[in-house]
Amino acid sequence: MQFVSTRGGGEPFSLEQALQRGIAADGGLFVPTEFPCFSPEAFADDDTAPAIAQRMLTPFFAGSSLADDVGAIAEAALSFPLPLIDLDEPAADLSVLELFHGPTAAFKDVGARFLAACLTRLEGHASDARGDLTILVATSGDTGGAVAAAFHRQPGIRIVILFPRGLVSARQEHQLCCWGDNVTSLSVDGPFDVCQALVKAAFADQDLRDRVRLSSANSINIGRLLPQAAYYAASSLEVWRRTGRAANYIVPTGNLGNALACVWARKMGLPIGEVILATNANRTIPDYLASGDWQPRDSVATLASAMDVGNPSNMERLRHQHPEWRQVTEAVTACAVTDEQIREQIRRDAERRHQVWCPHTATALHVYDQLPAETRQAGPWVAVATAHPAKFESIVEPLVGHAVDVPPALAAILNRPAQAVQIEGELQALAAQL
Ligand SMILES: *Cc1c(COP(=O)(O)O)cnc(C)c1O
Repeated sequence: MQFVSTRGGGEPFSLEQALQRGIAADGGLFVPTEFPCFSPEAFADDDTAPAIAQRMLTPFFAGSSLADDVGAIAEAALSFPLPLIDLDEPAADLSVLELFHGPTAAFKDVGARFLAACLTRLEGHASDARGDLTILVATSGDTGGAVAAAFHRQPGIRIVILFPRGLVSARQEHQLCCWGDNVTSLSVDGPFDVCQALVKAAFADQDLRDRVRLSSANSINIGRLLPQAAYYAASSLEVWRRTGRAANYIVPTGNLGNALACVWARKMGLPIGEVILATNANRTIPDYLASGDWQPRDSVATLASAMDVGNPSNMERLRHQHPEWRQVTEAVTACAVTDEQIREQIRRDAERRHQVWCPHTATALHVYDQLPAETRQAGPWVAVATAHPAKFESIVEPLVGHAVDVPPALAAILNRPAQAVQIEGELQALAAQL
């Protein structure tokens, strides 16, 4: 299959180009030229998420050098449980899709591992006198850990993480700095914007690029989106087999990568009904759906910090697919949730539902509870749990009044020694580390 830039024009790109470049030269995002379409019955023989992923993603790999590896790549990316937990609510059909059983306890593990499995295989076919591929990742918290875990000890690839010193939580910092080997963690003197600007400056510096092969692994890479469609396929098929009905999803949303994968799964024929985006106080998407005016803005800091995005980049993909505002409003709806509502949801559900949510997941449950009773009863509904609450213990534990158990994978990471190199927020300082 071929891929085009959302900004149009130009030749189509191969899957390899889309994976390796991440972003198109015109600044657009890569989208497939077509989507395959399946009936639920097409997956009758597929019982596991990797098997479902292999069937639905094979068409995207057609004609690429990775075509024979789709099964193995899907196995590597979706190698941990992605369970659908029934909340057993009276008079409603509500379940929670837990995406946090991977190495860094957040859904980003799926995309990061899939991208790593693709890029290491492509590197295996490549050779360059400049040596290893260096992947730069500017992170405000979760992305860097998932990417580091996914690429740790992968041959031929070096990971350099830049994070804002003092502006990530203690456990997040540990996840960014505990790898060693082919992972370098840089604690940058400055906020996230400075980290991101440093990465851009490195890409723009020709001397540096002559010396070092640079790439990026940010969340707009198509290799992170495609595998996410697989867990929506697997969970919707599970609901379909049980009830004969299409599942409606509520997805905690920041940059729209996770929710867009749900929309793509629906487009590919999977039994998915409504898709509701739960945002935090960063209201760019809900305001656009209400007014038709696309007004990106600076992000505001909230408790659900991994969703603090004022200019959600994947909206460009959704609008490319649905050029009219009306069409976008038919594809998704959205609801913003305040910090106070997040706190209240965590506090109340610990008592009422006996469940502990991370602040991101709490936005989805809040949106569910706000739906009119007849809409809830018209389910089935799936609320998406994007991270384990133990990652955000300093917010969650005071609200629920007890300690949250740390899952084994996260505990293993927290037990590793951590170290970072401190650098000034200047290109020279970054270049010296490359
Ligand atoms: C990244 C992240 C989100 C937001 O996902 P997008 O794909 O950016 O919409 C939500 N929750 C958690 C825990 C995350 O790490």
